Amino acid sequence: MKRNSSGDNYVSYEIGALTLTSLRDGYVDMPTTRLRQPGNKVFGDGLPRQVRLVDGNLRLSVNAFALDDGTDVTLVDTGASNAWLDSMGLLPQALREANIAVDRIRTIAFTHTHIDHINGLILPDGQDAFPRLSRLLVPKEELDMFRAEARLQRFHERAETFEAGERIGANIEAMAAHGHEVGHTCFRITSGGESVLAWGDIVHVPSIQFEQPEITWEFDGDQEQARASRLRMMALAADNMYYVAGAHLDSPGVGRIARSRTAFRFEPL
Ligand SMILES: [Zn+2]
Repeated sequence: MKRNSSGDNYVSYEIGALTLTSLRDGYVDMPTTRLRQPGNKVFGDGLPRQVRLVDGNLRLSVNAFALDDGTDVTLVDTGASNAWLDSMGLLPQALREANIAVDRIRTIAFTHTHIDHINGLILPDGQDAFPRLSRLLVPKEELDMFRAEARLQRFHERAETFEAGERIGANIEAMAAHGHEVGHTCFRITSGGESVLAWGDIVHVPSIQFEQPEITWEFDGDQEQARASRLRMMALAADNMYYVAGAHLDSPGVGRIARSRTAFRFEPL
């Protein structure tokens, strides 16, 4: 896998015969108390020094990923649009910069149904962001959650479900990585003998969770299961030389994972 082109809000990579583009929707700042030690304990004054802060907060990138097979484009997650904070909602601009026409996006697959992943279906002005969308794929366990998002009401009946283990495209396989949410999914994208895991919210705070993967996030629905999924996906990527593409890794959020003395290390590409 190698870098193709880049701009302010995107980076494109070649993987086999495919193009994977990281699209920057923006960022969200969160208090450090969202980080949890085993036992669901906050850090308080004992916050490890390596945790990177911006004005006292954790700054999480918000990224989506587009996979172009030369015919159609599949989008993994869609950012927050105007449903949360002003620091997000750049996805349409990122797509323009990357020269990805929105009417080529025919399939959208969600890693899970939290607001910063699904709301990009609708632009701030209320129009559909993807006028030729034909498949809207939601993890089976989260269909009800998706249908509870009032802002996306006109998409509720269009959602199709998928299950872990299913292929959702010629080059894309859904893998269970439950814990952060009940249907949280990683997508393994493979071409030309290389693979990249579009792994959603396996990591929220890269400055500490690679080195200490036991640390969880307040919004992990099931802390123990989220921890186990993180360890499993990191090991899978490290041991098979998979690249990863993370929704909250620092933009563009693509790279390799190596085992380190203590746990793992992220090597951005
Ligand atoms: Zn998220």
